[in-house]
Amino acid sequence: SPTIVWLRRDLRLQDQAAFAAAAASGNPVIPVYVLDDETPKHRRMGAASLWWLHHSLERLDAQLQAMGSRLILRRGKCDAALAAIRRETGARVVHALHHYEPWWRLAERAVGKALDLRLHHGNFLLPPGTVTTGAGQPYKIYTPFWRASLQQLPPPPPQPAPETLPAPEFWPASDTLADWQLLPKTPDWAGGMRDTWTPGGAGAAQRIEAFVGRARRYDEQRNLPSCSGTSMLSPHLHFGEVSPATVWHAVADAGGSVDVFLSELGWRDYAQNLILQCPDYAARNGRAAFDALPWRDAPEELAAWQQGRTGYPIVDAGMRQLWHTGWMHNRVRMIAASFLIKHLLIDWRAGEQWFWDTLVDADYGANATNWQWVAGSGLDANMFVRIMAPLSQSAKFDAATYIREWVPELRHLDDADIHDPQRPPRGYPAKIIDHGQARARALAAHGAMKAQA
Ligand code: FAD
Repeated sequence: SPTIVWLRRDLRLQDQAAFAAAAASGNPVIPVYVLDDETPKHRRMGAASLWWLHHSLERLDAQLQAMGSRLILRRGKCDAALAAIRRETGARVVHALHHYEPWWRLAERAVGKALDLRLHHGNFLLPPGTVTTGAGQPYKIYTPFWRASLQQLPPPPPQPAPETLPAPEFWPASDTLADWQLLPKTPDWAGGMRDTWTPGGAGAAQRIEAFVGRARRYDEQRNLPSCSGTSMLSPHLHFGEVSPATVWHAVADAGGSVDVFLSELGWRDYAQNLILQCPDYAARNGRAAFDALPWRDAPEELAAWQQGRTGYPIVDAGMRQLWHTGWMHNRVRMIAASFLIKHLLIDWRAGEQWFWDTLVDADYGANATNWQWVAGSGLDANMFVRIMAPLSQSAKFDAATYIREWVPELRHLDDADIHDPQRPPRGYPAKIIDHGQARARALAAHGAMKAQA
């Protein structure tokens, strides 16, 4: 009988253990993607992720078709959808990769009851949950986690895509991507994303090729938003269009000191380990003391932040890059997140949700981990009282060219003036709050929180 490959965010053929195991069985293979918004705890993908998903599924289907196979699309609860395919085709065995978001763990349990589910590793450098302290406990802090991970790395070399995927005698029915309406209707806000990205394995391969030559300079350039110093692989890694082992070996083989880059891949693994320990990490403070922080309810200021109208050029540039391309440079993510949390004193969860909706790399674990890190509320976190000064960060990391690109109102200002325009040009807002006042207010709020503890 045929074998099902159940796909989620592992949309690739190369170094994909579920495809490899299904191909090795010698049985016909039915690749299935289920759009599941019904499994309990499910967090529906944001708009930018749905845009990416549409294109990624389209590209994977084209790759499968070139091998005489195809992708079957179903909608509904994963266990019900896969059980229906079992009834229609006689397929009993399902191969899939492990996922760690709370809803995927519930879905895996449900599918395992209905069919013979065989789970494989491969979306992370090391299987989350397996890197533990001497006492067998999971790590809460990144640095010892990564030190212990390095003992077990590098990952095994990536496996090639299967040469063939035998087709079943007949294909079960499939939805079409058009049925799912994942793309924006009107207005079409995806133009900037189309110009920036090529979702799918080929796009990921292009990013790797472009980055490998620059990887030696990563440590020097990764904090400079005006340079293309980072890999821009995050959405490809998030959707599993390329495995982290493939990225690791491509970059490590390029030579030079790439440890810093590889340790960033380590943050990706670390975030999965955190959501295994705290499944509701996107909703709940890692440190309970933060439940008492007196956040402000300020919807107009939240909207100004979302739309890049705070009067702080580096923050506005980042928020506009995010809206236009679905991605933001990491240094600017930290500055923009810190600004929301500390300058505006708005709950980090409002920012987490905005990023969830607008990032093409929106990732349950990585997003929550980084927001909680910036807020100071996480298990491993920056101190709340260390308040980033956005204007001096902008100058320190030489963001002038970046600001000119994303905030055209400021394009004519010279490097000395652009980080903190003394007389903002017409059309560009005055600062939403003075830095000194914001700092004092944030420290007072933190003091009030401590007093409650
Ligand atoms: P590179 O610098 O080239 O790094 C290589 C890869 O390592 C990335 O593609 C990513 O998979 C991983 N990585 C790097 N830094 C981190 C990190 N701090 N945490 C986890 N993984 C990391 N990253 C996401 O993938 N999804 C998110 O939803 C997300 N939300 C964030 C929210 C905030 C507030 C902040 C400060 C950071 C967030 N990040 C998130 C982490 C980081 O900003 C992005 O991974 C990075 O900017 C992606 O660009 P890149 O591929 O060029 O990264």
